[in-house]
Amino acid sequence: MSIRDNVKRVQDCIAASCARVDRDPASITLVAVSKQKTVGQIIEAVDAGLRHFGENRVEEGVEKIPQVNASARGKITWHMVGHVQSRKAKQVAQRFDIVQSVDSLKLARRLSRFALESDRVLGAHLEINISGEASKYGLAGYNWYRDNSVKANLWRAVSEIVALPNIEVRGLMTMAPYGAEEKAIRRVFADLRDLRDELTGEKELPLPELSMGMTDDYQIAIEEGATMIRIGRALFGERV
Ligand SMILES: *Cc1c(COP(=O)(O)O)cnc(C)c1O
Repeated sequence: MSIRDNVKRVQDCIAASCARVDRDPASITLVAVSKQKTVGQIIEAVDAGLRHFGENRVEEGVEKIPQVNASARGKITWHMVGHVQSRKAKQVAQRFDIVQSVDSLKLARRLSRFALESDRVLGAHLEINISGEASKYGLAGYNWYRDNSVKANLWRAVSEIVALPNIEVRGLMTMAPYGAEEKAIRRVFADLRDLRDELTGEKELPLPELSMGMTDDYQIAIEEGATMIRIGRALFGERV
């Protein structure tokens, strides 16, 4: 299967998921997660019509981004989707367009500072650890609707982050537990959507983006309200 065939197949699945819940496929942004993939493979995906790409390692992204941008016609939007160590915040703020993995106030402050220095406005999603797994990054969000201290901490972090200059918080991001049952995965996505709705309502924050869903679970994510899905393997094949 070529990358072009894969893009078509994923787009057909997105349309089918949208049809099940009466959503417009145009309301879903497909982010191709190109980690471990070559510039040539990324260009193939660009030629198949994709414009959003995600990387999870700073060095790898910083190396590939200028190369892809130089050979792609039209504007590519680059998403950082992996954990960013503080000391790498500067490179991220200079090279990426959207950081989906803003997982601490400290990181947000540094991204803001370096975006300001580079005279850029960086898009941001707050990564929320809804599943509560210790292996996952993100602001603590497990049981946020029942646990008042979790909710208070989240509300405080969000207020401070949205007030920072040169980063524009556009939404939330989460990852479902790997290999869990459909019911548990659906619950994680629904909890993120409810959190977004409550933040939007109580704080009057515009947080349109819900980034959730990967190769194994994006159809569930779309049914639960995802506006952005991050797909690697279904587009580029298995990673080695
Ligand atoms: C790798 C990765 C993805 C894509 O995963 P696939 O299972 O290959 O679709 C999505 N989001 C993040 C944060 C990732 O690291």
